[in-house]
Amino acid sequence: FTVPPPTNEPTKNYAPGSPERVALEAALKDIQQALPFEVPCVVNGKEVRTGNLDKQPIPSTHAKHLCTFHNATPEVLKSAIDGALKAQKQWESLPWADRAAIFLRAADLAATKYRYQLVAATMLGQGKTIWQAEIDAACELIDFWRFGAHFVQELYAIQPKSSEGVWNRVEYRPLEGFVLAVSPFNFTAIGGNLVGAPALVGNVVVWKPAPAATYASYIVFKILVEAGIPPGVIQFVPGPAEEVVGQAIAHPSFAALHFTGSTHVFRKLWKDIGNNIEKYRAYPRIVGETGGKNWHVVHPSADVKNAVMQTVRGAFEYQGQKCSACSRLYVPRSLWEQGGFKQQLLDETAKIAVGDVTKFTNFLGPVIGRPAWDRITSTVAKAKEEGAQVLVGGGADDSTGYFVQPTVLLTTDPQSLTMSQEIFGPVLTVYVYEDSKWEETLDLLDSTSIYALTGAIFAQDRNVLAQTAARLRHAAGNVYLNDKCTGAVVGQQPFGGGRASGTNDKSGSIGIFYRFTSARAVKESF
Ligand code: GLU
Repeated sequence: FTVPPPTNEPTKNYAPGSPERVALEAALKDIQQALPFEVPCVVNGKEVRTGNLDKQPIPSTHAKHLCTFHNATPEVLKSAIDGALKAQKQWESLPWADRAAIFLRAADLAATKYRYQLVAATMLGQGKTIWQAEIDAACELIDFWRFGAHFVQELYAIQPKSSEGVWNRVEYRPLEGFVLAVSPFNFTAIGGNLVGAPALVGNVVVWKPAPAATYASYIVFKILVEAGIPPGVIQFVPGPAEEVVGQAIAHPSFAALHFTGSTHVFRKLWKDIGNNIEKYRAYPRIVGETGGKNWHVVHPSADVKNAVMQTVRGAFEYQGQKCSACSRLYVPRSLWEQGGFKQQLLDETAKIAVGDVTKFTNFLGPVIGRPAWDRITSTVAKAKEEGAQVLVGGGADDSTGYFVQPTVLLTTDPQSLTMSQEIFGPVLTVYVYEDSKWEETLDLLDSTSIYALTGAIFAQDRNVLAQTAARLRHAAGNVYLNDKCTGAVVGQQPFGGGRASGTNDKSGSIGIFYRFTSARAVKESF
């Protein structure tokens, strides 16, 4: 038998009056009437209320909060780890198809019964527009689980040769110990994958969701429980990162870190894991997707209209809060003014409506919270001091929500602050190069790519596309030709980057599943 061949979940279009729009509006209303919710820790199938409370504010209207959540205490985390280790034997002994069936059922629940609740919770809690939330909390989440079941089947089928009188086989064992999943605020789906990928291959997982995504993460967790995840296999432990993560990685049965978040935190965790190395039974697997400083480079042969539209979407969708977001743009002098690039870019950016995401005509919502708003606005101020010119945007308003105008900066210094540092907000910096310096510009781009997550090359000349992709081979883990550098689809564009952007284990592909297995080769002679 084989798992049903996966197809990507189609996005719904939410046209006014459509059944999905009506259902979504009802889900938003239900949440708005019932909030704030109370989110417990869930350990060994039981809800635990520690009384150590934090809030998840609504970034569009920060006077309100979506939920109050109970932070895990050291005792709760200890029982989560102990319980997970206890649950391990039975979970890893299940036939893989039974594990796959749980995730396929969870995918169906997310696609039907819980779809609008997931989308509405992600809109309110994480400030996504309806379409960004649909792509994330519905389609990508569903795809991670459906394709995940299929990738596991493909992985298990990879077997060595045998010879006469000998049967060789490889058993893809889960890791011995527990996996710690630390998920980010910006994609509800990523939490589903950080726990789903290891669990699908028989691991037990302790999950610490991002505080700013607690409520949507809790819905994801509850869907998994309803689908049949046994108690203890995935433990839900919100809490302060330093403490929860610090305690988990100091445990002798810590087997792997599955992380999406900042480069700074990932590097620290890597060092901490190194400092604990003698404690562990086995070398832990460290899997992380971290920051990006993603680029669009435009060749003089490019189709200007397409390059502008893709850049606006790549830079500003979800307020630039994607690790993959475009944040630096290289344009040739010939296209910039004369070719109309500048005018089109400014016009398209100025058209973007910013505001509360529950008003569906807004294309840009708030940034996630106070620290993000402060960081983005102060970075723009500093860039201006350093000589960058604001071409459009530059404004920000935090009176009711954390809003930042989509901003385009122009710099003459390709090494400047906003050409090299990740901002994680709706800020794009443009550098105009001389057409005669195309080759030097590519070298410059590569040498300033401390990160290497995504990039996009725009050219109508096919040879240029091929040569540029080869020349920038290590400057991105995902490169797009004549398309924006965001929006990787599970099963279509395996996602991840190198250099300071992560371990490039490719979520949304079979690659990630290898990392959470420890193969045993079995030779049997007859
Ligand atoms: N996979 C997403 C994309 O391709 C980005 C994920 C992230 O921001 O971590 O746009």
